[in-house]
Amino acid sequence: MRICGWVIRAKKFKKVIIVEVSGDSSTKPYVLVFKKEREPELFEKAEELDVGTALCFEGEKSQVQKSKRGVEYVVKDFKVYAKPLDPLPVDTIGKVPVLLDTRIKYRYLLLRNPVEKAIFKIRAGVLEAARQYLNDNGFLEVHTPKIVAAGAEGGATLFPLKYFEYKAYLSQSPQLYKQILMASIPRVYEITPYFRAEKFNTTRHLNESWGIDVEQGFIEDEEDVMKTLENLVSYIINYVRKIYVEELEMLGIELEPVNPPFKRITYDEAVELLRSEGIEIPEGEDLTDAAEKKLGELMMEKGHQIYFITNFPWSTTGFYYMRKEDGTHTGKFDLDYKGLELASGGQREHRYDKLIEALKLKGLNPEDFKFYLEAFRYGMPPHGGFGLGVERLLMKMLNLSNIREAIIFVRDRTRLSP
Ligand code: ATP
Ligand code: MG
Repeated sequence: MRICGWVIRAKKFKKVIIVEVSGDSSTKPYVLVFKKEREPELFEKAEELDVGTALCFEGEKSQVQKSKRGVEYVVKDFKVYAKPLDPLPVDTIGKVPVLLDTRIKYRYLLLRNPVEKAIFKIRAGVLEAARQYLNDNGFLEVHTPKIVAAGAEGGATLFPLKYFEYKAYLSQSPQLYKQILMASIPRVYEITPYFRAEKFNTTRHLNESWGIDVEQGFIEDEEDVMKTLENLVSYIINYVRKIYVEELEMLGIELEPVNPPFKRITYDEAVELLRSEGIEIPEGEDLTDAAEKKLGELMMEKGHQIYFITNFPWSTTGFYYMRKEDGTHTGKFDLDYKGLELASGGQREHRYDKLIEALKLKGLNPEDFKFYLEAFRYGMPPHGGFGLGVERLLMKMLNLSNIREAIIFVRDRTRLSP
């Protein structure tokens, strides 16, 4: 068996050399033990193994296992493929604390540390579970353009770019496209980047983040969509609990299971609850971050770590949400987990005339949405969906204090490389 990776620790004594190698998908390092008496030639060669060296080795698991850090190997042979030109700028066994800025810059090196890698293995597991759940439930995975002519949420949050002689933008959400597809594929999903041009300065926003975006047709109301979302999130969390036992343990995370149905409270109830705690929410405005957090604490006290906030007022939502009979509320909901918004979704307006009216009411020009609107003329069924933030979910599952820990390469206000 040939195993490849990088030296993350090398201890050299007179008669024994112990080298830890991290590579492929193992959760723990391989511990290579060289003994001068047992393999004099290899021992001499092993003297050149320093932290950062890339190598492959062949060997067998040792009869005696003394290391607590990994499985010990007796090496038959090894080959060095590359040596570092400089000492490593970060500690790849996680002993020396590293500032966030440096962590982000050198994440590709830190990932040699199996503990660090565990976060991103779980991230891949989240997406694998999502695909499994959605595929099994009749959703078709699609891809929609990331270069677009119009945004769903308004101009201020769009990154502009030149597209030959046209003005274009990076897509902030697949909203308009997944809705158009409701005219032919009643269940779609897309795992997609969101590009948002706000000058965020928080621990929970990125300028390029990833979402699991779902849209579903022939619904009665948003309750159908909420069922899909709560089942999906439960499936993902329970999948990670089952498959990533070792990784969770390495990270010291006790991930609690979640089970549907999740608690539902209306926006009005949430506002009332917050007001009774002395937190003011101006009439018809979205919940502030502080309010969202406080609500999380209040809900936790009642035993709900995950819950829906439903019936958001029309004054807080995008134009495409369906208004309720009363004209002031909508079928929009948020899903919050441990006091943070994980997803937004709801029932959309599928009636052509109402949609035109809604655009105008929101001060938008129907001319800018021509291609979108036309799709509503040919038998558009009632539909709804949601966008679920991948980094937000990972952050809350793994108790990461900053969303930048949940993505390998960070795009934020000041980071454009690596
Ligand atoms: P927030 O109000 O928290 O800024 P949002 O309401 O603008 O988020 P949505 O448009 O509802 O975001 O996007 C759906 C989901 O995608 C959010 O619930 C969140 O999980 C995730 N998301 C959106 N924008 C970002 C971002 N800038 N960084 C990280 N995740 C994001
Ligand atoms: Mg939202």
